[in-house]
Amino acid sequence: TQDYLERIRQFSALNAYITVTAEQALAQAEAADKRLAARTADLLTGIPIAQKDIFCTDGVKTSCGSKMLDNFISPYNATVVEKLNRAGAVTLGKLNMDEFAMGSSNETSFYGPVQNPWDVTCVPGGSSGGSAAAVAAGLTAGATGTDTGGSIRQPAAFCGITGLKPTYGRVSRYGMIAYASSLDQGGPMTRTAEDAAIMLQAMAGFDEKDSTSVDMPVPDYSAGLNQPLSGLKIGLPKEFFGEGLNGEIAAVIETAVNEYRKLGAEVKEVSMPNLKYAIPAYYVIAPAECSANLSRFDGVRFGYRCDNPADLADLYTRSRGEAFGKEVKRRILIGTYALSAGYYDAYYLKAQKVRRLITDDFKSALAEVDVLMGPVSPTVAFGLGEKTGDPIQMYLSDIYTIAVNLAGLPAMSIPAGFVDNKPVGLQIIGNYFAEDRLLNVAHRYQ
Ligand code: GLN
Repeated sequence: TQDYLERIRQFSALNAYITVTAEQALAQAEAADKRLAARTADLLTGIPIAQKDIFCTDGVKTSCGSKMLDNFISPYNATVVEKLNRAGAVTLGKLNMDEFAMGSSNETSFYGPVQNPWDVTCVPGGSSGGSAAAVAAGLTAGATGTDTGGSIRQPAAFCGITGLKPTYGRVSRYGMIAYASSLDQGGPMTRTAEDAAIMLQAMAGFDEKDSTSVDMPVPDYSAGLNQPLSGLKIGLPKEFFGEGLNGEIAAVIETAVNEYRKLGAEVKEVSMPNLKYAIPAYYVIAPAECSANLSRFDGVRFGYRCDNPADLADLYTRSRGEAFGKEVKRRILIGTYALSAGYYDAYYLKAQKVRRLITDDFKSALAEVDVLMGPVSPTVAFGLGEKTGDPIQMYLSDIYTIAVNLAGLPAMSIPAGFVDNKPVGLQIIGNYFAEDRLLNVAHRYQ
C-alpha cells in the first residue's frame, strides 16, 4: 500500500486519481496485516485497489467526474464497494472518469483529462480512463470500471490492460451512479485475466437492492482458468472487419486469432447484419435513460446549488446549467427530445426494436460458436484534444463495443499487441453468464 501511494504521488501528472484516501488505505492495510498474521485472510486481504469515482463510497467524495457532485460525500457504500471491502481489499482512492461516464476519452471530466501512460500526449480512453491508466501505470493492482457502451473495454484496450464487462445483472448496480440503467454494468480492470477472475469473484452476485440483479450462483472463476481450448468454436463477425477498421489493428487481431488456432480452436466467420444499427440505437436509448436519471440533480437534495436563486425554476435551471458539462447537456437534450410526446414511437420505441434485432443476431451467432472475437476499437489511443470538437467521431470509437451492451452480454478486452507503440485490445464476447468461459479463453492466451 505504501509503495502504491508513493507511485501515485510520483505519477500524479497522469491525473488518474480524483481522490486519494491515503489514511484510510493505510489503516485498512494495517488491519490486513493483522489478518494475514492470524491466517484469517480473505480473497483480497491487503490487495490495493481503487474505485472508479462513480461508485458511492461511504464518507468519501463521490464526484462521478462532475462539478455537480464535486461537494458530494456519499453517506453509504455501493454494493460493489461493500463487497470488495468485505473481501479484504485496501482502497487507495477514487479514479478519474468522463463526466457521468459519458465519453470515450476521459476528456469530459470536470477534473481534467487523464494521460495515457504509454504516450502521455494520448487519451487513455473512456469513460473509465482513470481506472485503465492507474492499472497500466502500476498506481493500483486493480480497479473497478463501468461499461454502458464500452467504458471498461475501450480504455482497457487503449492502455494495454485486461477489462471485463460482465453480463447485465451479474454485478449489482446499487450505489453505482446511474447513466443508462438498462445498459450500465460494473466490472474489474486488471493487468491479467487471472486478476480479473479474482476481482470479479468478489464483485459478482445477487443483490436484493438492485432489482435487475440476477439470482444465480457465482462460479469459482479462478478454478476454470486453465481449461484446454481444443475444440473451442470462435466466430469472427464479418461486420467487425469492414472499412473503418485500421488495417494494422486488423492484422494484430488476425495474429491473435491464429494463436487460438494453435491452441486447438476452430474459427469461422459469422454475420450479424443488424450490428450497423448499434450506434444509432444506443445514442437514442442511452441519452433517453440518462435524461431521466440525471433529473435527480436539481440543486435541492444534494450536489451543486447555484448562488442566490430567485425562485424554484431559477434554482433548477441555474444549478443544472452551471454544474453540468457540455457533453452531459447534449445527452440530456437528445434524450428529452427522443422521449417527448409525439416522438416516443419514432425514436425510443424504434430503437428498442432495433435493440431486439441486434440481440437476436448475437443469439443466433452464439448458437453456432462459443465466443465471438474482434477488435475493441477501430483505432489505437488518439491524441488528447483530437476528437473533442467532433462528437460523432468520438461516438464511433465505440462501434465494436456498444452492441454488446444492447444485448446485455459479457465481453472482455485483453492486450493483443501494439500498433505505433500503442496497445491494441482483442475483444472476446461470450454467452450470457459465461464469464468463466471468457476468463478461461483470455487466460490461455496470456
Ligand atoms: N462512450 C460511450 C458513451 O459516451 C460509452 C460510455 C460508457 O460505456 N459509459 O456513452
